[in-house]
Formats: sequence, structure tokens, C-alpha cells
Amino acid sequence: MAGELYVCATPIGNLEDITLRALRILGEANLIAAEDTQRTRVLLAHYDIAAPLISYNEHNRKQRLPVIMEKLKEGGKVVLVSDAGTPGIADPGPMLVAEARKRGFPVIPLPGPSALSTALSICGLGMTQFTFTGFLPRRAGERERLLMELRQSGRGVVCYESPHRIEAALASLAKVWPDAKVAFLRELTKIYEEVLVGSPGQIAAELTASPRRGEMVLVIEGDRDGGQERTFSQEQIREKVVVLMEVMDKKQAIKEAAAELGIPKRIVYRAVIDLPGRGKMG
Ligand code: SAM
Repeated sequence: MAGELYVCATPIGNLEDITLRALRILGEANLIAAEDTQRTRVLLAHYDIAAPLISYNEHNRKQRLPVIMEKLKEGGKVVLVSDAGTPGIADPGPMLVAEARKRGFPVIPLPGPSALSTALSICGLGMTQFTFTGFLPRRAGERERLLMELRQSGRGVVCYESPHRIEAALASLAKVWPDAKVAFLRELTKIYEEVLVGSPGQIAAELTASPRRGEMVLVIEGDRDGGQERTFSQEQIREKVVVLMEVMDKKQAIKEAAAELGIPKRIVYRAVIDLPGRGKMG
């Protein structure tokens, strides 16, 4: 019999959030490839499942791939699980799935929880169209450019975040999308589950007053007129750039004005094309 790769969703917190089918297949597995073996061991112990477990993560996936392929070649039932939730969403799962499929092994989904769908289900924001970013870029400039593009797309946004980067993410959001309607969802399905809804500034203030740990997701409602160019007169745009040029060079002032006004850089550039390139540094 040919080997099969099962892609299995596991709980994102509450251990009861697992399907009967997932439990049966985990019990029958010849090998479980887990992103976080410690976390998976807790789950398996809870359900009295004893199956061989190896780690498959961002750091060792290239070395692990041949071992897993060998098991499939022997006709084994291999189950891929991520640290929590559905494999393949912001984790190393896709490489294994692609390799198994390329070699002709059936890839079978075992659907279940995901932080993405769980956050969307209770955020209470209008999210008919959205972009999922996974984790936001670490560099502030890159992060702000991306958030700006997302704002202009008019679609909602879902981002995964970590406790040590949440402040920076909210600060970037406050800069490029200050009036955004944001849901901050933390420790979903766990004891300290919490949802805060407000502007980036309001949520940041709440987190400064009382820092939060744990796992978190940000959901941002789409900016309904973000897809259109906001209407500022040429004079208003020029005024903004001129003020900014008192403290920075022209290029920087164009970038900053575009971010503050929430309009594309090229519109600002066109409005001030005839302004001499002076300014603090220019
Ligand atoms: N594949 C997983 C899924 O389907 O949700 C996500 C893996 S991703 C590497 C881990 C991130 O998911 C965390 O950093 C956090 O942003 C989010 N996450 C996972 N569990 C969560 C929970 N219980 N509450 C809130 N966010 C969670």
C-alpha cells in the first residue's frame, strides 16, 4: 500500500478542539512530523496516543525531508502537525506537502482550528475581503510600506503577532492608518482569552498600561475609501510637504506626507514637483 501524508489541524489552546477523525488518524500514524514536539507530546498524552514523533521545523526541514519521504515510500501513514492550528499557514508545512505531492503520495487534509479563522469568527469586524499577512516584517520601513499598501487596497487585514513585536506593529499602524478599526485577539480558546477593539492608539495605550503576553492576532477592518485616492487639494498637499521640509529633506518629506495623508507617494510627488529640493538635508 502507498504511503499517505495527512495534514492535521490541532488545537490552538483548548485540547478539546480536535476532530474525531484527527484523533483516529493520529492513533494510526506510523510517524508524526511535528513543528513543536513538546507541544504535540502534551496533546498525544492527553488522548493516550503513542506514535513515533519527529520534529519538522523551520531549522531542520531540509534534513528531515528524506526521512519522511522514506517512511512514505515504505507505505507509512505520516501525519504533519504544526505547533498549533492548521499546518501550512505561516509555518514550514508547504515544503513537505509539495514534496510528497511531487513524488505522487496522496496528501489528505484533516481540517480543524486555525488562529486565522478563529480570530475572524469573533472579531466582529466586517471582513468579506481580507489579506492575511502572516507575521509583519521586522523592519519598521518595510512594515509601514506594507501596511500602507494594505490600507490603500481597501481590504481587511489579518496579521499574526508576537508579544515582543506587538508594540512596534501598533506604532506603525498608528502612523500610517491612525483611524483603523482594529481587533486585538489574544490567547484564543485559552484561560486568558481576550479581545480588545479600538484604534491602534487606543489598543497601544491599553497594552502600555498593562503589557500582555501569549499568542496574539491583529484583525484590521478594511478602509472603505482606501482604494480610492483621498481628495486633498494640491495646496493642502504642498502645505504639508513644506512644513515637513523644515525638519527633513524633500524626498523624506514626500514619503512622510504620503503616509500622514494616506495617499500614494506619486500624488504627493506630482503636487510638489516644482518645489526646489531644499529642506533640512536637501
Ligand atoms: N498554523 C497555525 C494556525 O493555523 O493558526 C499558526 C502558526 S503561527 C506559526 C503561530 C501564530 O499563530 C502565533 O504567533 C499567533 O500569532 C497565532 N496563534 C496561535 N495560537 C493562537 C491563539 N490561541 N490565540 C491567538 N493567536 C494564536
